[in-house]
Amino acid sequence: MKESARQARAESRIIGFVPTMGALHAGHTALAQRAKQQCAPVVASIFVNPKQFGPNEDFTKYPRTLEADCEKFSAAGVDALFLPAAAEIYPSGFRTYVTVEGLSDRLEGRSRPGHFRGVATVVLKLLEIVQPNFAYFGRKDAQQVRIISQMARDLNLDTEIVVSPIVREPDGLALSSRNAYLNPDERRAAIVLHRALEAARAELTAGVRDSLHLQSIIRRALQAEPLAAVDYAEIVDADAFEPVTRIARPCYALLAVFIGKTRLIDNLYIEPVGDSGELAYHL
Ligand code: AMP
Repeated sequence: MKESARQARAESRIIGFVPTMGALHAGHTALAQRAKQQCAPVVASIFVNPKQFGPNEDFTKYPRTLEADCEKFSAAGVDALFLPAAAEIYPSGFRTYVTVEGLSDRLEGRSRPGHFRGVATVVLKLLEIVQPNFAYFGRKDAQQVRIISQMARDLNLDTEIVVSPIVREPDGLALSSRNAYLNPDERRAAIVLHRALEAARAELTAGVRDSLHLQSIIRRALQAEPLAAVDYAEIVDADAFEPVTRIARPCYALLAVFIGKTRLIDNLYIEPVGDSGELAYHL
């Protein structure tokens, strides 16, 4: 992989990179399609990174669908698929980790200690190997892409981080490899995340700017679903990922909710446009 990346760079080709953990869905292929519009070659990776899973998380049962994944990436125009083994990425004696301070221990990081250290470490390694000009990430994992962008800036990486919108099912559920864990009742219940974010958007459209009010609207919507248990539901500044009191700059409404045993995340990105106090919403 490194050798062909070096060669592509030497030929001044524009390398696009889509890192994933596989079990591909239309959210992943949308990233590849976007890369395809801007880059050649497009490289995608599938690596279920053991270091970003906690001891009681789903590393061993994470869905692995390699054959179908190859077909999907190939249909999306991916030129090269990088499938490293865990022992190649973390040979014995591996000791170096990346920690993006401040952003990594709140929200997802608080619920999943060590998660972002594992993510930042593997993403830096993958970027070093693939040497992409552009790397493509989904806004579904808003805190993750914020942390990766910070890392890219702090470590002077030669890669521009590109963020794409969330791809959803027709009923609003954000596509996720973990949706495969849901039984039919849970699948029906899972739309409550999107419904809660839609409720917040309706309040914002009606002029509400107070975060506590929005948070209570979101929590009430989530509590209406008996199969849902809220991990967190917060309104945060899109830069610092710290709580805000009023929506006056780019913000996220961030959700992590258990549907049965399956933990799902989703978010609404809220962005002021112009000076009029008007907002744009990205669900
Ligand atoms: P994963 O395989 O879950 O690690 O995700 C790989 C990449 O796909 C990450 O950049 C995710 O943010 C992105 N992604 C996952 N789900 C979606 C989605 N529903 N819409 C857009 N991007 C997504």
